[in-house]
Amino acid sequence: MGRQFNEFKASELYCPKCGSSQPVRERASALPGSKAVDLLCFRCATVVGQHTVIDHSLPGKLATLVGKLLK
Ligand SMILES: [Zn+2]
Repeated sequence: MGRQFNEFKASELYCPKCGSSQPVRERASALPGSKAVDLLCFRCATVVGQHTVIDHSLPGKLATLVGKLLK
């Protein structure tokens, strides 16, 4: 299926500090092993959201699939 580019992009989010919707920029979370991305208010750099990057490590899923097919 040709659905490889389903990246979630939030262009604007409400910032409680600014009191209005602001453009956001993404910053990968620095936590080791974390795939979360912080969404920072472009103006005041407050974290206004967070989303998890879809797991790109397909080998696990593929292995399961192949395991099923081979049974
Ligand atoms: Zn703000």
